[in-house]
Amino acid sequence: IEREMARLDRLSLTAQTAAGIAHEIRNPLTAVRGYLQLLQLKQECAAAGSYFKIMIEEIDRANGIITEFLSLSRTQIADLRRGNLNRAIESIAPLMGANAGSLILELGDVPDVLFGEKEFRQVLLNLVKNGFEASGHDQKVTVRTFAEDDAVVLQVQDQGPGIPPDVLSKLGTPFFTTKDTGTGLGLAVCFNIIAAHGAELKIDTGKSGTTFAIRFPLIQQDD
Ligand code: ADP
Ligand code: MG
Repeated sequence: IEREMARLDRLSLTAQTAAGIAHEIRNPLTAVRGYLQLLQLKQECAAAGSYFKIMIEEIDRANGIITEFLSLSRTQIADLRRGNLNRAIESIAPLMGANAGSLILELGDVPDVLFGEKEFRQVLLNLVKNGFEASGHDQKVTVRTFAEDDAVVLQVQDQGPGIPPDVLSKLGTPFFTTKDTGTGLGLAVCFNIIAAHGAELKIDTGKSGTTFAIRFPLIQQDD
């Protein structure tokens, strides 16, 4: 099955409200986190050390979800620069290997494109993470780059069971997940970032695995 994913719709009023609430929740979370850190240092609280650790970790997790959610309302890349995707991939690879089976890099000779380093990193981490989660952590995920006439293509290929049609049609919907501990924000964030690059996403999925392919447009002469 091959599908082209459409650009995320402009945020609805409901989504704008949600973004406002998410933003406002941050301040009290930051305050609570700060006091937890202070309490943690008090003699009287020494016995509860492990509880403090968990509370602070959970606040950080909540903050991470809010950050991802808020990034959905951004339609532009703040720091779009000319650079080589291969260099970016090589610098991120060690981060991705940490909780993964084998990550295979097949990096072709590709020209520079315009991309936001931070955002590209988020896309790659999310796709590779999904790949390992689908295939099992002892399997391999391949990250591939190659040049085409009018684009530089980045592929992330896994050996998972493929994406069933009913799931495929919901991909990129914020909070849609089939995982017990998933947030369902990974692909929504990816699709948003890809659209903001003027890049295209194609998903090729079947019984022997799934490939996410992103086509970055070549830099125009007058850019
Ligand atoms: P999460 O990983 O938190 O569930 P995502 O937005 O990253 O959220 O993915 C949404 C859903 O899409 C996943 O729960 C899974 O069902 C499906 N999915 C994403 N990537 C793959 C993949 N490579 N193979 C199979 N299913 C996938
Ligand atoms: Mg994910």
